[in-house]
Amino acid sequence: MSQSFPPGYLANEGQRALDVLLQLTAQLTDDRPLEEFLKAVTDATLDLLRADHASIRLLDTSRTALLSGARSGTGEDERPMELKRGEGILGWVVEHGQPARISDVQHDSRWMKSPRPQPFDIRSIMAEPLWSSGEVIGVLAVTSPRPTAFAEEDQLLLRLLANCSAPPIERARLRRLAMFDDITMAFNHRYLNPRLVEEMERASRSAGDVSVLYMDLDHFKSVNDKHGHAVGDAVLRSFADRVRKVVRRVDVLVRRGGEEFVLIMPATGATQAHATGNRIQQTLHAEPFEEGSGLRIQQTVSIGVATWDKRETPEQLERRADEAMYEAKRLGRNRVVVSTPRDVVG
Ligand code: GH3
Ligand code: MG
Ligand code: MG
Repeated sequence: MSQSFPPGYLANEGQRALDVLLQLTAQLTDDRPLEEFLKAVTDATLDLLRADHASIRLLDTSRTALLSGARSGTGEDERPMELKRGEGILGWVVEHGQPARISDVQHDSRWMKSPRPQPFDIRSIMAEPLWSSGEVIGVLAVTSPRPTAFAEEDQLLLRLLANCSAPPIERARLRRLAMFDDITMAFNHRYLNPRLVEEMERASRSAGDVSVLYMDLDHFKSVNDKHGHAVGDAVLRSFADRVRKVVRRVDVLVRRGGEEFVLIMPATGATQAHATGNRIQQTLHAEPFEEGSGLRIQQTVSIGVATWDKRETPEQLERRADEAMYEAKRLGRNRVVVSTPRDVVG
């Protein structure tokens, strides 16, 4: 095998692999947010295996949905397809706790075709389960548009990456769960007030603005009634994903409870906040939610916007946003209402 390589090639490859792994393990000991962790793993995997695309999927807390954790390479900015445990090749890997190396997905019965046009070509795929404390917590995978792109040695490298990443990923995930809602991965309601206070203090120091968006899904009860609670949960999850897609990284999405969300927007005035509200509505309007086998749900949202007037308390600001949201409901739902600051007494 080595005869076909130029002298020193294998040694160089070995050195390169060691460099990538050393760099990755150094990053994984840091106290970083889960997303950065996951992205570091998929970046290193893409690099080391010279793949076209690398991804991590993690089981949600109900251990049924395979949430998209991070993606690197071609198509990394595309919306990932919904996947459940047991579905497709990645779902099979998680369900059976076994690796897979497929030379051509077109000849594999486990391959699940995306309901939407696939944003990038996949012919070969290789995947390893992520194990932590005796349980499969997810899957690390690479793909290529070429058939038979991955060799047996590649599988070992992928296993090494999966094995050294899984425990720190699980620790970061548990830390995060304490702070995040596990259905939507938005911050949970306990985070709303402290974060708002923090942003208001920051805005005072910098003489900047801070705005909040109160969002309540319209007629959401009927989604549950018609399609069941699990579909309702999936709609909530997709909603949060779509909001995150159209807002900035600094904006903070909080699930206030049920089908109610708050977006805290640092350094943002009323005009920009209003535009963000419109963008959220447009993204829902442009693409109905697709759940399971061909089910399409056109979900709308009512949004109230309030910009801090530099005097009111966090509770007063929240109340104004909430009132604007109710006004949006009253005016017929599926709209954005901007609150006008009132004179605060005292
Ligand atoms: P409106 O347009 O007035 O907001 O109508 P609505 O049906 O959205 O409002 P309502 O407050 O009557 O109902 C909210 C529903 O949200 C009730 C409950 O079934 C559903 N819900 C709340 N939390 C969850 C959840 O975690 N998962 C699911 N699937 N449904 C939830
Ligand atoms: Mg509600
Ligand atoms: Mg509602």
